[in-house]
Amino acid sequence: MEPQGAKRGAGEMKDGATGGPPKWTRPAPSLPTDASLYAGPFPFYRRPSELGCFSLDSERRYHGDSRALRYFAPPPAHGSAPDFDLREGYPERYRPRDEETQEGLDHLLRWLLEHRGQLEGGPGWLAGAVVTWRGHLTKLLTTPYELREGWQLAASRLQGTLYLSEVETPAARAQRLAHPPFLRELMYMGYKFEQYMCADTPGGSPDPSGEVNTNVAFCSVLRSQLGTHPLLFSGEVDCTDPKAPSTQPPACYVELKTSKEMHSPGQWRSFYRHKLLKWWAQSFLPGVPRVVAGFRDPEGSVRSLRTFPTMEMFELIRADREGWNPSVCMNFCAAFLSFAQSTVTQDDPRLVHLFSWEPGGPVTVSIHHDAPYAFLPTWYVDAVTQDFPSPAKTPCPGN
Ligand code: GDP
Ligand code: MG
Repeated sequence: MEPQGAKRGAGEMKDGATGGPPKWTRPAPSLPTDASLYAGPFPFYRRPSELGCFSLDSERRYHGDSRALRYFAPPPAHGSAPDFDLREGYPERYRPRDEETQEGLDHLLRWLLEHRGQLEGGPGWLAGAVVTWRGHLTKLLTTPYELREGWQLAASRLQGTLYLSEVETPAARAQRLAHPPFLRELMYMGYKFEQYMCADTPGGSPDPSGEVNTNVAFCSVLRSQLGTHPLLFSGEVDCTDPKAPSTQPPACYVELKTSKEMHSPGQWRSFYRHKLLKWWAQSFLPGVPRVVAGFRDPEGSVRSLRTFPTMEMFELIRADREGWNPSVCMNFCAAFLSFAQSTVTQDDPRLVHLFSWEPGGPVTVSIHHDAPYAFLPTWYVDAVTQDFPSPAKTPCPGN
């Protein structure tokens, strides 16, 4: 079903098998993340196709439909320059999502439970797949270039499928709780931009008078494949363009971003090196063809817009020797998936392999049972094991 050993070459595991200590003291395997190890041809990446979608409402309730999808409604291209005050309404019309509630993969699992009988790809496709959020894959793609923030990914195998769910690192949690007020406002401003650029109906006009409620989300569920790894992942989509040349998702989707206005070539260079990498990784994975950026002045008003076609982003950095390379991102992600597939050998939803990474080091693994790391909810495990009981595996005492 899956390769038993990690791919050789760039993704080779360091397990001390050659010239290292004897087998009985073999150190835990780890995966290096140096960009130089992952150069080479761009790996196979299947054109992402949308399997379905779901919405989360203003109270974060799940709906198996597209009710939260909004419609791209930019100001007329040849009219006057935009002047969107992104701070308007803050803080009185801000309803931020509760970041203490750790949802894990729950919404995606609910979608999967309701659709796994009708998945394309044939019987057994899901058993060979990796299931995760797009955002987790984005972090993997950018890892070889990330200098500041580490990550932890919990992995469990159930009926063949490998599930990956991010765990907030202690450092990330501390940082989140210590968010200075200006960062809170900056987050609001990103969502406020969406409100100026989106309408609730195709052909409608934006209404920036309402509240900004970040519980609301429209999520697309996509199928792809990286190298030999079939992927099923979901990502939040900002809006669809009713005037897009292709009305078929994900080709009609648009990602909206804001960034500071730039004035010098050095500022643009730095933007291409750092921010554009994140934008590219996030939109390339689900096949979202363009990112529309609003550039804000020091007062927090968007004064200009620029469209970045996802497939043209790399051209903006290709000539920069300190820039990023999409092949490195994708090869590293493929190597990580091989590493995870060969590390998690037991099919057991209560067993968690925790993959941890801090900048400057390799990806390391630790093993955990049950709380607090186990993340596949009982309602999901019970439902899928009732339908297709696995041949006797590890005994499962208790609930
Ligand atoms: P992204 O690519 O990082 O935006 O994340 P995804 O598109 O993969 O989103 C996956 C799920 O996580 C969706 O339900 C999002 O609403 C949610 N999500 C995205 N970013 C955040 C965040 O910063 N905090 C919390 N609590 N949820 C988030
Ligand atoms: Mg966005």
